[in-house]
Amino acid sequence: METISEIVEMDHLNHARFESWHFSQDFCITCGMCSSSCPVSGIDGFDPRKLVRMVSLGLEDQVIEARWPWICTMCAKCEHVCPMEINIPAMVRNIRGLRDREKVPGILHKGLAAALETGNNLGLPKEDFVFILEDVAEEIKEEPGFEDFSVPIDKQGAKLLTTIHNKLVNTHTEDLKHWWKIFHAAKEDWTVPSDNWEGTNWGLFTGDDESMKIMAGRIAENMQRLKIETLMWPE
Ligand code: SF4
Ligand code: SF4
Repeated sequence: METISEIVEMDHLNHARFESWHFSQDFCITCGMCSSSCPVSGIDGFDPRKLVRMVSLGLEDQVIEARWPWICTMCAKCEHVCPMEINIPAMVRNIRGLRDREKVPGILHKGLAAALETGNNLGLPKEDFVFILEDVAEEIKEEPGFEDFSVPIDKQGAKLLTTIHNKLVNTHTEDLKHWWKIFHAAKEDWTVPSDNWEGTNWGLFTGDDESMKIMAGRIAENMQRLKIETLMWPE
């Protein structure tokens, strides 16, 4: 966050700019509870209390261009402790949605574009995805007690469908094993879809409602297609 050194004339600000936002931002009493609870408070000077004040004052360009909204993890601790029930995470999401899509931080923008086009943030072809899943399953089979393990891909009528975070088939396949071994030990009737399996929804993170709906809708379509009633969406 850049230090704002210019003196801002309060009368010149458009205080009504965000008045349609119903996050109670104008009720802030600057108590600092949000700042104290925030796990990323202080990073690059980030302070949720100051962000609330900027929105309340209608500092449009400054909040849209600021790095602060992209530092927030949207964990909602601040909302939980705020005595005025100000919904800071939702406010942050709205701010993100105002930024030109080409200026959304790189990995989020590129990952979402890839997901919309291919069904996953990596742009991983279906054959490669299935190959990785089966390769991980083979490794599990080598462990004592898991000799009969196999990965149920696109299993019609399974009890549970799980999505997968892209990093689990990229750099964190060990985490994938943990999940699957629990399923196996619990005798769970589960499956993973071979298309649109992405578990992250960067439409949600970037304040892009349309993309968020597309990503969520694809998971619902998978459940309908495979006739599954229970979803495990670990992200
Ligand atoms: S906790 Fe709520 S009232 Fe207190 S400073 Fe933060 S936003 Fe304002
Ligand atoms: S939602 Fe954002 S601002 Fe609020 S506590 Fe979490 S990281 Fe901090």
